[in-house]
Amino acid sequence: MISIAIDGPSGAGKSTVAKALAKKLGYIYVDTGALYRTIALFAIRKGAEPTNEEQICALLPQIKLDVKYVDGTQRVFLCGEDVSDKIRTNEISMCASKVSAIPAVRAFLLDLQRDMAKNNNVIMDGRDIGTVILPDATVKFFMNASEDAKARRRHKELLAKGEKISLEEVKKTMAERDKNDSARKIAPAVPAADAIHLDNSESLEKTIETAINIIMEKII
Ligand code: C5P
Repeated sequence: MISIAIDGPSGAGKSTVAKALAKKLGYIYVDTGALYRTIALFAIRKGAEPTNEEQICALLPQIKLDVKYVDGTQRVFLCGEDVSDKIRTNEISMCASKVSAIPAVRAFLLDLQRDMAKNNNVIMDGRDIGTVILPDATVKFFMNASEDAKARRRHKELLAKGEKISLEEVKKTMAERDKNDSARKIAPAVPAADAIHLDNSESLEKTIETAINIIMEKII
């Protein structure tokens, strides 16, 4: 099976690039952030404190998480409920970042992610795909963009979803989240030693073209 890992901070444009690559190559796109977001949603619904390891660990056995593809699009199910749209808020982003620093949460999601790559050709995006989940990925990318480009991109997404939030607030929470994600003890969001760095500050088309050329060289 072929696996393409795309790691990087929030707002770098990983999912847009990953979706385009998946379409071009006929692979499935696996958005691993959605899994952490789903656990965050469950924690919020249960009134648990996202940094409280004991509380979060006690919830994990109650979580049934399924990933399905509907018309080629990933949908995430929490105990049978499709929560794919509910997990896209700024509140859930912050909460996901907190629960994702808990080792038991990462262990809980490990096999699900690896099994998807075992059974399908995948483009998988996240923070630790190239370093932990798929250390033998066919190609590993680490994507980044300027602070301004990242914040504007995420702000636009949130506004489109109807969230009322200022660009400044988005910048603040993104910076906090990225600091937590890259400084945490377990699976920090850092580039794998053999990752190819992609800057996605400017043209999305150019980034996609560069990525596809690199992939083609590797798989043909
Ligand atoms: O990618 P997305 O912004 O949806 O991820 C939400 C949060 O989930 C991230 O801020 C990060 O803390 C966590 N995450 C992670 N490892 C991944 C994917 C996401 O820790 N592979």
